[in-house]
Amino acid sequence: MKYVDEFRDGEAARGLAAAIAAEVEPGRDYYLMEFCGGHTHAIFRYGLPELLPGNVHMIHGPGCPVCVLPVGRVDMAVELARRPEVILCTYGDLLRVPGSRRRSLQTAKSEGADVRMVYSAADSLQVARDNPDREVVFFAIGFETTTPPTAVVIQQAAAEGLANFSVVCNHVLTPSAMRAILEAEDAAPRIEGFVGPSHVSTIIGSAPYADFAAEYAKPVVIAGFEPLDVLAAIRMLVTQVNAGRAEVENEYTRAVTPEGNTKAQGLVEAVLETREAFEWRGLGSVPRSALQIRSEYAAFDAERRFGLADSRPRENAACICPSVLRGAARPTECTLFGTTCTPDNPIGSCMVSSEGACAAYYAYGAEREAVAG
Ligand code: SF4
Repeated sequence: MKYVDEFRDGEAARGLAAAIAAEVEPGRDYYLMEFCGGHTHAIFRYGLPELLPGNVHMIHGPGCPVCVLPVGRVDMAVELARRPEVILCTYGDLLRVPGSRRRSLQTAKSEGADVRMVYSAADSLQVARDNPDREVVFFAIGFETTTPPTAVVIQQAAAEGLANFSVVCNHVLTPSAMRAILEAEDAAPRIEGFVGPSHVSTIIGSAPYADFAAEYAKPVVIAGFEPLDVLAAIRMLVTQVNAGRAEVENEYTRAVTPEGNTKAQGLVEAVLETREAFEWRGLGSVPRSALQIRSEYAAFDAERRFGLADSRPRENAACICPSVLRGAARPTECTLFGTTCTPDNPIGSCMVSSEGACAAYYAYGAEREAVAG
């Protein structure tokens, strides 16, 4: 196939759905997690639950960078932004994520904090060049896909001797999160296989999932974001589950290789290193699941520069985002869903982000959940 429309062809989708229906064993339920929020949105946007047999259940995973950032880190961003000398730059989705007492970067901005939405890490570097008398902090979030640009701007700042630029590094690692999901007591028994991330895998490749698949005996099929990609991956997972196999397969061969983007990996390796542990919303403290800035670049590490530390956050007890993120609950199980909590008035991060599961349910109709089962 050559054009994107071909990956959205209805007749081909129905053909794949029929193939899945022919392969599933009657009387047996299949619980498969799509790790990535982009897949969750594709599944709902294209109505895939209606196409799937009733015994194939898609569980939504934590692959949404904004959603997994814990409240304590949101509070850290807000506190940093309130310092008069700071210009805080970050990606748009994060601005609306509520921290403790529902304070967000957006509310801090409305109170006078200098918070700027950027479209890229490079934009924040330009803000630093343009404002030499201010401290410009890039609050970097994201999975492996957005990590290389963060490493590049730190290297560039060092090369230019930009003394007023620093980064809070919140970049997280996918394979560690997949392990944590399976080790969460309330989610582990149900998940039989993973639809693996597409964009993340273009960077890290398919090979890093191999140990995970073998250790936990769970198949992983890396898939693109188009509906036919997702259906093909589900079929490949059903085939593996039926055969008792737990291998890494790659449906997204047009973009993902076993070794990934080695140049990007080299850039990241030069600037960032693995943290001992990192707090995730929904998963708690996960060992070796995030990156921090190497000591060689300590001058650009905002956590050291400003003496930042994780705070004791106040979570909204009624928001079940943590359970949604580890696949233990569906958004519609939340009593606030669609009433108190909507995209215009988000209570939790899963309703804010374009990749959040609650936002997907709200945008594409919660009634589909009944079909998804
Ligand atoms: Fe949290 Fe809102 Fe989702 Fe409920 S609907 S889990 S309050 S984000």
